[in-house]
Amino acid sequence: MKLFMATLSTETNTFSPMPTAMSGFEEFYLRHGTATQDPPNLMTEALHVWRRRAEEHEWEVIESLAAIAEPAGLTVTATYDALHGEILSDLEQAKGADIILLQLHGAMVAETVEDCEGDILKAVRARCPDAIIGVSLDLHCHLTDAILAAADLVITFKEYPHDDATARAEELFDLALRMTRREIRPVSRIFDCRMLGLYLTKEGEMQSVVREMQALEAQPGILSVSLAHGFPWADVTDVGTRVLVIADRDESLAAETAEQFGRSFFARRHALSTAYPDLDMALDRAAEIPASPVVLADMGDNSGAGAPGDATFALREVMRRGLTSIAAGLFWDPIVVRICADAGVGADLSLRLGGKVGPDSGDPLDIQARVMRISSGLGQHLGEGIEPLGTMVWLKMDGEIDLLVNDLRTQVYHPEAFEQMGIALSSKRLVVVKSTFHFYAPFKAIASQVIQAATPGGASPDFRNFEYRRGGAECWPFVDNPLEVNTQKTSQAKERDRTFV
Ligand SMILES: [Zn+2]
Repeated sequence: MKLFMATLSTETNTFSPMPTAMSGFEEFYLRHGTATQDPPNLMTEALHVWRRRAEEHEWEVIESLAAIAEPAGLTVTATYDALHGEILSDLEQAKGADIILLQLHGAMVAETVEDCEGDILKAVRARCPDAIIGVSLDLHCHLTDAILAAADLVITFKEYPHDDATARAEELFDLALRMTRREIRPVSRIFDCRMLGLYLTKEGEMQSVVREMQALEAQPGILSVSLAHGFPWADVTDVGTRVLVIADRDESLAAETAEQFGRSFFARRHALSTAYPDLDMALDRAAEIPASPVVLADMGDNSGAGAPGDATFALREVMRRGLTSIAAGLFWDPIVVRICADAGVGADLSLRLGGKVGPDSGDPLDIQARVMRISSGLGQHLGEGIEPLGTMVWLKMDGEIDLLVNDLRTQVYHPEAFEQMGIALSSKRLVVVKSTFHFYAPFKAIASQVIQAATPGGASPDFRNFEYRRGGAECWPFVDNPLEVNTQKTSQAKERDRTFV
């Protein structure tokens, strides 16, 4: 048995003015068949699992590309062609495979291809009509009919923050293995909930939603249930929350289960959506909390959702209010990093920080600061994996304001991003982190309270700030009752009679 596997992952914020090019993959993560020789990260955990499982079965393993870029705008055509072309040419060189497992993101949009994952899977299917094709997606994906039509098995992460990539990789391998033994014949159906939303799965109603999915998976005939949350900062046809059910042989069971679950999810939309305070309200609220440190999430500038990462709105307001004892980061500003590296530790500098990418960054902020430390090669935990931090600079301003600036766009996942640099968060009154949800659990552990703020920026959780011309315009909250509109799509997932084994 021959297994072919690869990873290609970026999440495209189509509203972002920053193109995603090869440099974005090169600086973040790019390996040509050797990713399993590195420690795993979120999007390569699956490759490690699949290699280990395949080798236990003494299968041949062909490992292809692993390419990951921090989310930004549309992927430029030459980069998309080169990356998906590499997967296809590796597949051709391997003379096909019996099983093809891919870890893709699901929200990659190129200049000329709206559904990159559907496009890749279609090309893979064309080359390997009889292979078992399985794909694991981030739950922030656009679940399209093209993806389902080309793949036999599609599953998404269930948890946000994503701490179940390994479990999903195991699940996908198990299902593929059962297909090789002809124990199952998966059929998949989607229900489109027609909702835009952000759903943290670690508390409240969403915790129950995850448990309900797991309970459904224990029902006879159901092989897998996924809730694709969708990636709301994308003006694409298939944006929005969708339920995917894989049943064994039984199309109606898959379709009915997906619809029932999807309608129940939609019915709970108000309980599932949070009205986040704006920056002013969030800072007012923080001031009333007696214990420290208060952690405030600068949600609007989460580069993990394609925002620039150099927005100054929150820091400007903190300074305007004269607040002291602050830690804030990560500001993406390679120019400031370069100036600080040239000046060296101990230098007192006049710096123009952030505000460079566009209107979503706000205006640049002119500050006086001392360079306290410069470090390269550090990482921060996201679940089990370690994510890179690039070159980081710790800047200290009057009023015990400590800033973390770096040259690699990434959100804050873990307090260790600050603490490895020497910034003791426990001594701070307020810690401002550029992130939406991934920071949540590790920071909650050190915070007196966490406030997620609907700050301005390229990843603002207030979707009214974005102009949707395609699918998003037909979703709740823009349409009150979109499921009553007679445009409900049903998936036409293809089944194939396998001659394989
Ligand atoms: Zn995600």
